[in-house]
Amino acid sequence: MSFLDRRLFDLEAYEARARLGPCFVCAFLAGEPDYEHELVYEDADHVAFLDRWPTLPGKVLVAPKAHVEDVVSGFSEDGYLRMMRAVRRVALAVEEVLAPERVYLLSLGSRLGNPHVHWHVAALPPGVPYEQQQFHALMAEHGVADVTPTETARIATELRRRLA
Ligand SMILES: [Zn+2]
Repeated sequence: MSFLDRRLFDLEAYEARARLGPCFVCAFLAGEPDYEHELVYEDADHVAFLDRWPTLPGKVLVAPKAHVEDVVSGFSEDGYLRMMRAVRRVALAVEEVLAPERVYLLSLGSRLGNPHVHWHVAALPPGVPYEQQQFHALMAEHGVADVTPTETARIATELRRRLA
């Protein structure tokens, strides 16, 4: 698999799911069918799991278990620092497993869709041309990574091993 292997992504269906469906993090934690994710890390207050539609192979989402909507003010100072400690820990494991050119960290979402705080930990593979890096690499408008289920399972296993 090369970094350029991308497949088209149904953005309309995704937007409907994000805006009209239940909170995807809370639904995952509640074990709701159709919201399963590959869990790679868990502590008392946080979970990390593979993005189901990763724009880059092995993209991980790190979220608080509590339904917090504001990425900074939604946390106490201590809670924010613990959240970031979980993000750092996951990002270091991602660096070890995927040996990327760069790890991107970002928190997006909106009150209109995917409001539950989650940090994206996205590994830019080595060799991606400069003009296809950064936002280009992260936009589902350019398709999502065509990662086989076998490769996804391998990445998840490696991440879990390092995060255990
Ligand atoms: Zn939630």
